Amino acid sequence: MSVEFPDLPYAIDALEPHVSAKTLEFHHGKHHKAYVDKLNAAIDGTAYDDQSLEQIILGAHDASDTGVFNNAAQAWNHTFLWHSMSPNGGGEPQGPLAGEIGSAFGDATGFRAEFKNAALGQFGSGWAWLVRTVDGLEIVTTGNADSPLVDGNTPLLTLDVWEHAYYLDYQNRRDAYVDTFLDKLINWKFAAQNLEADRNAA
Ligand code: FE
Repeated sequence: MSVEFPDLPYAIDALEPHVSAKTLEFHHGKHHKAYVDKLNAAIDGTAYDDQSLEQIILGAHDASDTGVFNNAAQAWNHTFLWHSMSPNGGGEPQGPLAGEIGSAFGDATGFRAEFKNAALGQFGSGWAWLVRTVDGLEIVTTGNADSPLVDGNTPLLTLDVWEHAYYLDYQNRRDAYVDTFLDKLINWKFAAQNLEADRNAA
């Protein structure tokens, strides 16, 4: 069994003009695919071969199996990223998610400010996340390939702040990229689904 390289959940040009087809051709078609290909080459014939991607991430982390962990986590993180953006994104969270955002950050504006601050504050490559912890919603960042899954937290949304995610469209302007994500692309419906699944699992 090998880990699947998933299609994008929308057309390659669906996020234009905010994220170009050219960016997605490289980011999904080259970067994401390379993580999956390297992972599958690394786990072929090993005990990881029959495991889910989540199991591989947690097992490789526990075993300090860095090469497998990095490629497995990047495979997972990128699939999660594609769903964290939508051609019809932006706006405000609805329903129970809006309530939890309010409890954690005051309101959607408070969330926005804290998320932007975190995404800009991540030095070098990494990820900004909205996660659900036992104490409620939090914004966290992870460096390079690292994943909130290893801390037992449930990711609701993510943004890739590796330069490969934005350089073709925004060059060095990470702040403009983060603003565009928050204003035009953020997929609150996906976050709400992840919140509901986590509440039902608890
Ligand atoms: Fe990336």
